[in-house]
Amino acid sequence: MTPAAYLDWNATAPLRPEAHAALLGVLAATGNPSSVHAAGRAARRVVEEARAEVAALAGAPADGVIFTSGGTEANALALCGSALPVAVSAVEHASVLAARDDAARIPVGGDGVVALDALDAMLAARGPMLVSVMIANNETGVIQPVAAIAELVHARGGRLHCDAVQAAGRVVIDMASQGIDLLTVSAHKLGGAQGAGALVVRSGPRPAGQLRGGGQEQGSRAGTENVAAIAAFGAAARAARTGLSAAQAVARMRDRLEEAACRVAPVTRILGAGVPRLCNTSCLALPGAEAATLVMAMDLAGIAISAGAACSSGKVRASHVLAAMGVPAEIAAGAVRVSLGPSTTSAETDAFLRQWATQAERVASRRAAA
Ligand code: PLP
Repeated sequence: MTPAAYLDWNATAPLRPEAHAALLGVLAATGNPSSVHAAGRAARRVVEEARAEVAALAGAPADGVIFTSGGTEANALALCGSALPVAVSAVEHASVLAARDDAARIPVGGDGVVALDALDAMLAARGPMLVSVMIANNETGVIQPVAAIAELVHARGGRLHCDAVQAAGRVVIDMASQGIDLLTVSAHKLGGAQGAGALVVRSGPRPAGQLRGGGQEQGSRAGTENVAAIAAFGAAARAARTGLSAAQAVARMRDRLEEAACRVAPVTRILGAGVPRLCNTSCLALPGAEAATLVMAMDLAGIAISAGAACSSGKVRASHVLAAMGVPAEIAAGAVRVSLGPSTTSAETDAFLRQWATQAERVASRRAAA
């Protein structure tokens, strides 16, 4: 069922028409890219064309692109395949936090930005590390100072991995000028199909393959490629790269939504505001409300939003991102994520705002009655 207002683009973005066409085109064809006959060679061409598009989106050479099943697998490949000790920021996605039990944690400040002094001290004490810091956070949209982080990491002989699952297609990525050595991208967050992603290796050794057997992806990831999803990934990556100019209009819509949310419910808190953020993401809190209740009430009204790290779990739990930022528990408990995209309409944001006002009134009257 299509909701009246789909404001959960960070969980999964609608399939772009170009990606839809590419997907259907490949599904109608037969061929394994590893086969030497004509059908196999045609499938191989599809994969290689998509590889070039993903590389262009990342600003990296095509031979550095390793296709995976998605962002989670690409993150695991980067971290588990590293010979260096690993450090990850405290606000990373669960797929990064859970990849290595032995990873050191880099703290963030109250604004959600990595504490550069703490990172530098860690590197000084431990020597070269693989440092994993996301370009932009999935819950708050907060953007990290990646180039400054890269300088610190490289000065100590380490390597930088960036999870760009939410950033790709929303901000310009240029691995070379930003000093990113390894980068994770996921197709379904930028308008491709679910089931494809990539780890892009710009410099240094490729990580040790975690899935072994066939020699696919130059031995970095065994298993027959998901050709249809990869074709859609390539089409979506091209459309995302050429459509980056839409970001400003999306940011204006997000800013209007935040202003209006604060007007209709002055107790509203915007978490992560005040530092550079993704154009499309808003983490709004209604102190005294329960995020799960807010998400359910919105859903009943046909509005899709999420709470906490809901894109991965389907259930609402305390946000480790907001905890790492030191957001008080009462505020974090009432925080939801609203994420927009280029085709979001003001009718959709208005629907959200009507419900936001209703929920704020409920919280206020509950408090008055207590
Ligand atoms: N990294 C970030 C920042 C994410 O937001 C997500 C998904 O929400 C992932 C990684 C996992 O990506 P995938 O769903 O492709 O496994």
